[in-house]
Amino acid sequence: MKEAFTRLIENLANFIKLKTALSLMVVGTACYLALKGNLDIAIFMTLCTSIVTYYFTRKEEWTMHVLASKKEQITLEYGAQTLNGEPYNHTGLDMVKKTNALDTIIAIQSGKVITVVNKYKGRNLAGGYGNYVVIQHGNGFTTKYCHLKYNSIKVSIGDVVKKGQEIAYMGNTGYTFGAHLHFEVLKNGKTTNPKPYIKGLSVIPAYKETEAYTVGNYKTLEIMKVRAGAGTTYRQKKVKELTADGKKNATSKNENANACYKKGTVFTAQKITVNQDGSVWAKTPSGYVCIRDKANIYCEKV
Ligand SMILES: [Zn+2]
Repeated sequence: MKEAFTRLIENLANFIKLKTALSLMVVGTACYLALKGNLDIAIFMTLCTSIVTYYFTRKEEWTMHVLASKKEQITLEYGAQTLNGEPYNHTGLDMVKKTNALDTIIAIQSGKVITVVNKYKGRNLAGGYGNYVVIQHGNGFTTKYCHLKYNSIKVSIGDVVKKGQEIAYMGNTGYTFGAHLHFEVLKNGKTTNPKPYIKGLSVIPAYKETEAYTVGNYKTLEIMKVRAGAGTTYRQKKVKELTADGKKNATSKNENANACYKKGTVFTAQKITVNQDGSVWAKTPSGYVCIRDKANIYCEKV
């Protein structure tokens, strides 16, 4: 609440500064015209300019985004989460462009770049944030943009960036299960929920349990990948990319491998996890399989 108030004051201050500068210019011109005897034109001009100025400055100051498309969609919320049935604290907000697409990442506010990491070429479970950028905004606020695509970062340490300036392209580096932006807002070094700072966020609707998923035997309805960990932005590989020897690969625990179950394979789910995005994951002896995502069902109980 206090943070929201601080931001409100900051935005108002910026808004007033910009409006004052433009207003002074208009008033100067209006005075000149009035002195010349064109009073009607001076009044009309002042009125029109004030309305236009108000509209544009208001729009500029209150729109805060982290994606160039301005169509952010949350794939994983901030705070307490469940990952593979284990409690886990998510320190940021995971986002993609609405409709699950990638996008260019932009600075949410103006500030100074204080950290740039660009050493990961791809996923690396020990790599944490992967490639990332940190921007310092003043008043104890910093923002962190993570999992950035290798060599896509457009800013350097020490750069002063403007709000909306392009930082990098969304990537899949570090500890991820699919390309997305992990975005953090830190106030005096402590993370806080970034959600109130982003305008017009769309959230995946809360998952409603319509079927009971319980431990037991399931049969795959189509070819499914198997991996060691579950995540929310993971996407299945297209069937044509999968190998024919699915059964052999299904024993692999390498998440990058084309490990898969063939259509019709029966597996035993030892543990079931329902994620926030509506996906349901089953732990099997060979790893994890997605038995449904928010739109599709990949197997049925037998
Ligand atoms: Zn994240």
